[in-house]
Formats: sequence, structure tokens, C-alpha cells
Amino acid sequence: MRILITGGAGFIGSHLCDRYLAEGHEVIAMDNLSTGSTDNIAHLAGQPRFSFIKHNVTNYIYVAGPLDMVLHLASLPSPVDYLNFPIQTLKVGALGTHNTLGLALAKHARFLLASTSEVYGDPLVHPQDETYWGNVNPVGPRGVYDESKRFAEALTMAYHRYHGVDTRIVRIFNTYGPRMRADDGRVVPNFICQALRGEPLTVYGDGSRTRSFGYVDDLVEGIVRLMATDVEGPVNLGNPIELTILEFARLTLKVTGSKSEIVFINPTDERTADDPKQRCPDITKAKKLLGWEPRVPVEEGLRKTADYFRVKLGLA
Ligand code: UDP
Repeated sequence: MRILITGGAGFIGSHLCDRYLAEGHEVIAMDNLSTGSTDNIAHLAGQPRFSFIKHNVTNYIYVAGPLDMVLHLASLPSPVDYLNFPIQTLKVGALGTHNTLGLALAKHARFLLASTSEVYGDPLVHPQDETYWGNVNPVGPRGVYDESKRFAEALTMAYHRYHGVDTRIVRIFNTYGPRMRADDGRVVPNFICQALRGEPLTVYGDGSRTRSFGYVDDLVEGIVRLMATDVEGPVNLGNPIELTILEFARLTLKVTGSKSEIVFINPTDERTADDPKQRCPDITKAKKLLGWEPRVPVEEGLRKTADYFRVKLGLA
């Protein structure tokens, strides 16, 4: 197959490039490098079946030749990024999704939208299954991300219903692993880098909020399976093992062997506005339709991620 991956130089996108290349396909990575990095795909330079196009998907997309699949992962996925770049976040979810869907239509390609657990907002149903419509504040600071992804889902289904585009939607829950940015502001890189540097781990609030952390290899496996099926509606992919942020901080200290202390802070900026109190995927649908469930235990995944950051931070 010939596959286009937008956000291909990003954290998850670059792992998908690796996977599809390993399976013998031709992969074109597209990225504007705003949060992605050529470091993530440097090892692919010179691969005859790999190419890179630097392009912002909010502008018209031209790709020569046929495409079998378009996987749309371009986005500003960390709360710090989308608070810093709110309008770009809305544009990539809206215009970027429109352009990539238009491309998939023109090429008769199968399309994947990388959506998010954030479509459930601060959920009133727990754990969240795909039938839950969510609890999102459209005018809050997080609304730029949540609503852009909700719009992207609606647009994807409209292209499916009106134009017959063969579409898939994956709702990605908190995912971590090598190639996350050390400074992206999310809890996994923050805690691991703080632990490795011997700095205090910054728990926001009282640490009772919950998240469920999935390792990137498991997510990639789920996406590849989803693309190989005919499941058109949204599918949750995430690890249903739920931890409080305080538990996660303690686990990070254990895995890294760090002596850092844990501090509780209340950021005065908008980082924690509308911060969901709990989040955990119901993965019944993925289990049933894809035969998928996470395989990598969180301690093992965290160890691999810590190894990556040790090298990145020059501490190895
Ligand atoms: N968080 C924290 N300390 C940090 C970074 C994040 O306590 O240094 C919290 C944050 O308030 C949220 C959770 O960890 O409750 C997960 O945040 P993240 O930004 O990783 O992703 P989100 O799931 O909110 O998109």
C-alpha cells in the first residue's frame, strides 16, 4: 500500500511510519514540524519506501500519485500546546481534517481520524464507552481542542455518509512512550524528566484526578487492526488500568529509582481549567471487533520511556 500519515514526524505518527514501513508498505510522512521533529524520523532517511513532505495540512494538500490510506494524526495534542496555539488547534482539527478528507475522497483512500478521549470532556459516565456523548465546555480553554476533534468526527462521518468515503475514527486515550517531547507539558514527560533530573514532581491539585496510560506500541497495534477492518464508528483505544495522578507520580519514582520529592501545586494559568477529574476507557468494542487489548504493563512502558528520556536529556 501507499500510505500518507499527517503528523508523521510526531510522537504517535512516527511510530506508525515505522510500523507500516516494517510491513513493507510505502509511507509518506507529512508534518509542518510545529510540534513534530525530524529527530523522530531521522532513522528513516534513505529508506527507499519512505518520504517526507513539510506541509501544514490547514492549507490545500497536494500529493502526487495514488494513495491507499490517509491517516490524519496532525494536531497539537498537549494541553500546553493547545493553550499556547488555540486558533491553530481549531484550524488543524477543522480545516486540516477537511483537506485530508478531501484528499482521501479524491484518491479513493481509506481514511483514519485520530480523535481523542477529550471528546468525552469531563465525563459524567465512567468508564467511557463510545456511546457516551460527552461533557465538554465549548467556551473553556480546553474547548479549542475538544471541539476541534468533535467537529473533526462530525466532518468525518459527513464525508462517510455523503461521499461514501471509507472512514475510521480512533479515540485515543492518554498514550506515552519514546519520542514524546520532554517539554510538551504533559504529565508523563513532566514526571519522568523531573524524576531523572532529581527535581520535585509537580502534582497539580491534590493528585486525586485519574488517567489511564497506554503504551504507544499497543496503540499502534490497535490502529493497524482498525485500519484492516470495516468498523466505521469510533473506537476507543487505551489502557483501562486507571491511576490517580499521585499514584502515577509514586510509580514514576519507583521505576526511575529517583529520590525526588512530590509537591502539590495549583498552576495559576489555565493549564488545569476544565481538567477532567477522571478518565478511563471502556475497551469492550475494541476487544470484540479488533481482538485487541493492551499488552505492555505500565511499569515496563514507563521503563522504556525513561530510557529514552535519559538519552534525550544527556543523562545516560
Ligand atoms: N498533571 C500534573 N502535573 C504535571 C502535568 C500534568 O499533575 O506536571 C496532571 C493534569 O492536571 C491532569 C493529568 O496530570 O490531571 C494529565 O495531564 P496531561 O496534560 O498529561 O493530559 P490530559 O489527560 O489532561 O490531556
